[in-house]
Amino acid sequence: MQLTNRNKQVERKPMTFAEKMYLPSIFKGMGITFSHMFKKKPTINYPEQQRPFSAVFRGLHILNRDEEGRERCTACGLCALACPAEAITMEAAERQVGEEHLYREEKYAAKYEINMLRCIFCGLCEEACPKDAIYLSQTFAQANYDRKGFIYKKEDLLIPNPVTDPEGFAKAKGTIPQSK
Ligand code: SF4
Ligand code: SF4
Repeated sequence: MQLTNRNKQVERKPMTFAEKMYLPSIFKGMGITFSHMFKKKPTINYPEQQRPFSAVFRGLHILNRDEEGRERCTACGLCALACPAEAITMEAAERQVGEEHLYREEKYAAKYEINMLRCIFCGLCEEACPKDAIYLSQTFAQANYDRKGFIYKKEDLLIPNPVTDPEGFAKAKGTIPQSK
């Protein structure tokens, strides 16, 4: 039984000889494929190739050193205070005699952690820091399999030492392009 009278009988035309050979459709499809070979590719071979980020991109945090390789952070806590996500924790320690080549000021961060699951990459920690000790780089926080892996410790955040590893330092600073 018909529910409406809008149904329409469609006549199936008999196929021509060329259509039976499927040749026009095959050549049409190949034409479309070949035309794409000469077009600019919209995709890139990530991660070998990477797209340049915007100059204002805010990525993974870096704890900075001075030109002599000494840690700049004095564990003043201003970054943690400015952080709206309460993602930063630290413990301060006093610099001992003989540690002047390691830490720039009398106080330093013995422990410094950022919880990347809380961080919203707002950059307020960078703005709050009076010592140019923390900044947001142009790399991502890496993927991880468990939540603990997203708590970045001081060792993960510290920039390579410019005295012992100038290339790593320059790469982290973004003054030479990343190779991967
Ligand atoms: S970028 Fe923003 S949310 Fe992330 S640690 Fe810094 S202040 Fe906190
Ligand atoms: S990173 Fe800067 S603001 Fe944060 S504790 Fe260190 S010196 Fe202070």
